[in-house]
Amino acid sequence: AVAADPPYLRDLNPAQREAVLTTDGPVLVLAGAGTGKTAALTARLAHLLYTRKAWPSEILAVTFTNKAAREMRERVRAHVGDAVEGMPWLGTFHAIGAKMLRRHAERVGLQSNFTILDTDDQLRLMKQLIVAADLDEKRWPARQLGGLIDGWKNKGLTPADLDAGEAERFANGRGQEMYAAYQARLLALNACDFGDLLLHVLTLLRTDRDVLESYQQRFRYIMVDEYQDTNSVQYLWLRLLAQERKNLCCVGDDDQSIYSWRGAQVENILRFERDFPGAAVIKLEQNYRSTPHILGAASGVIANNGGRLGKTLWTELDAGEKLRVIGIWDGPEEARRVGEEIEAAQRRDGLSLDRIAILVRAQHQTREFEDRFIAIGMPYRIVGGFRFYERAEIRDALAYLRVVAQPADDLAFERIVNTPKRGLGDKAVQKVHQLARAEGIPLMLAAARILDSDELTPQARRSLGNLVGDFARWRDMASALPHPELARQLLDESGYTAMLQADKTAEAAGRLENLSELVRAMEEYETLGAFLEHVSLVMDNEGAAAGPQVTIMTIHAAKGLEYDTVFLPGWEEGLFPSQRALDEGGQASLEEERRLAYVAITRARRRATILHAANRRIYGQWTSSLPSRFVAELPPEHIESETTMSGGESLWRANWSERADPFGDVARGTGRGPGWQRAASTGTFTPEPARVVEARASAISLGNKGRDDVSLGLRVF
Ligand code: ATP
Ligand code: MG
Repeated sequence: AVAADPPYLRDLNPAQREAVLTTDGPVLVLAGAGTGKTAALTARLAHLLYTRKAWPSEILAVTFTNKAAREMRERVRAHVGDAVEGMPWLGTFHAIGAKMLRRHAERVGLQSNFTILDTDDQLRLMKQLIVAADLDEKRWPARQLGGLIDGWKNKGLTPADLDAGEAERFANGRGQEMYAAYQARLLALNACDFGDLLLHVLTLLRTDRDVLESYQQRFRYIMVDEYQDTNSVQYLWLRLLAQERKNLCCVGDDDQSIYSWRGAQVENILRFERDFPGAAVIKLEQNYRSTPHILGAASGVIANNGGRLGKTLWTELDAGEKLRVIGIWDGPEEARRVGEEIEAAQRRDGLSLDRIAILVRAQHQTREFEDRFIAIGMPYRIVGGFRFYERAEIRDALAYLRVVAQPADDLAFERIVNTPKRGLGDKAVQKVHQLARAEGIPLMLAAARILDSDELTPQARRSLGNLVGDFARWRDMASALPHPELARQLLDESGYTAMLQADKTAEAAGRLENLSELVRAMEEYETLGAFLEHVSLVMDNEGAAAGPQVTIMTIHAAKGLEYDTVFLPGWEEGLFPSQRALDEGGQASLEEERRLAYVAITRARRRATILHAANRRIYGQWTSSLPSRFVAELPPEHIESETTMSGGESLWRANWSERADPFGDVARGTGRGPGWQRAASTGTFTPEPARVVEARASAISLGNKGRDDVSLGLRVF
């Protein structure tokens, strides 16, 4: 670097400099993980301001998350000082959309003080419309309509744009009508939903030449990070806004496209070159983040995907440690093991907890880690989601359990009195409250008493009567049934499970998984009381730690981030790749899972540990699981495998007659015993004496293109 270079250029390599200095004309930066795409984009922003090519208000810069926007702002500030304060158009597509919409609200029929609805409001509204349209809301649930409308909005489709095929997807062809009714209702309420922040702006830009031209003039430069995950409506925005000046710079990595379920289209990368002919395409190949072993492992996995644009990645960093692949017995052991590893890393290298992350495939996986970390006093934070016990469905389920355990628990009672909806209006609930206050008695008791009066409508009385009766029955059951079983029945009988099952969105599936996880958690406690006590302690732990904390989050939320040390638990078939991806069966969903695996591994700078459990407990049933096919796809030269079976006494006594030999599939590949002997008479497995089993992993290399030489050293006991 030349000494006279401005500071933001000093550390950049030639390709990055090119991305920064090619300010005019369309630019596409296509490069693998950790090659400094975001760093280059940030420098580019600094450069535009530093050289006064544009005023802060003339740059549109899009990040994927609000956090990323804040970070970019901070970095740019370091170079150009307060000039960045005037950068109003740095943020996510949604944030920018909201800002534009406020300025021109009246042009799409809103007022500038419109409300942005959250998902709950949105669903409530849809439900009203479904009922008003004389549709059976059980058959045609609001969530399904919500999912469809979201999808349409992500594609940039207004009700008028829907063809018959799309409309057919709801209530026998009434999709368009319902969508239009919903939009009309929103306008009447002076409200919009999240999708509208994108769609209204698109409509605005398409229909109002003046507005379009004013923004085309204003935005001298447009840039977009994480471009591979833009959806259609976002792409259409960009194309319109950049059409005049054509100073559009997008950076992305096709291998990291992981939001297709939200309508993201990796094809936007290919469209870019078509829509902006003559675009400069810049490739960054040097990775500054990860060691060669980590890169090698990630590259080996992603190589199994077809149709990639293909990229070279290299690094100058020292080889470092191989990826560790650890097979453990079950979920609790996984959490225990990760806790121990973190403590060891702290002792060994004084590694700060801030530099460690646990990245999970599914939200419900966080629970076991949270419970363990609370037990050992390890500070942690959950990013991009709620802590397990704070999630709405968990709080609801806990509220039911609390009322069973403690009928005077008014807060809990209040929470679930009409969840799921059982036709108890606010009026009825208020009457119960009045009686409770007047008599100084708990709500539950007031509810029971009010049934004898004529205060309620017949419908409210019936519903409340049922609820009071249900709770009496559940309390009886509580003394007879194991508490996890009680929870299961209670969730079924209250209609809570059915409510979520009726809902076909991915979100609802996740909520159901969380509830199974809750039941699983209960199994670890002797009594319902002990479990609830545990939960209140966990909840009390909130925000206690101000110091460094381990981060726990989903892989989706970890996009763009990096950590010194990364733990990747649950690499098992059915969990990762997810069961949903496997059931859909398509190559496309499997490849998206594989891209997730690639994103996961490439978050690590120096150390990555993948774990897979031989057993998971699902609704009280032990299920044996196979290591993920992605484990088998890891090139052997970059990994170090170990399987420790160190379960406690009770484990060996457990009865496995119902289930497959946990290592059946691995062992089949070796022709040797897996370290377990089965007592023919009882069907019980007991461990053989300690020994090392070398298992060839060919049997687990599902979908692995002909590589069957991965050797796992399995150490049993
Ligand atoms: P991802 O695909 O995960 O979003 P990315 O391509 O955006 O990754 P960055 O996050 O920008 O990569 O950079 C990865 C790491 O490399 C960061 O720690 C960054 O500070 C560092 N880095 C980037 N460019 C350079 C460079 N020229 N010299 C040294 N370090 C660099
Ligand atoms: Mg990035």
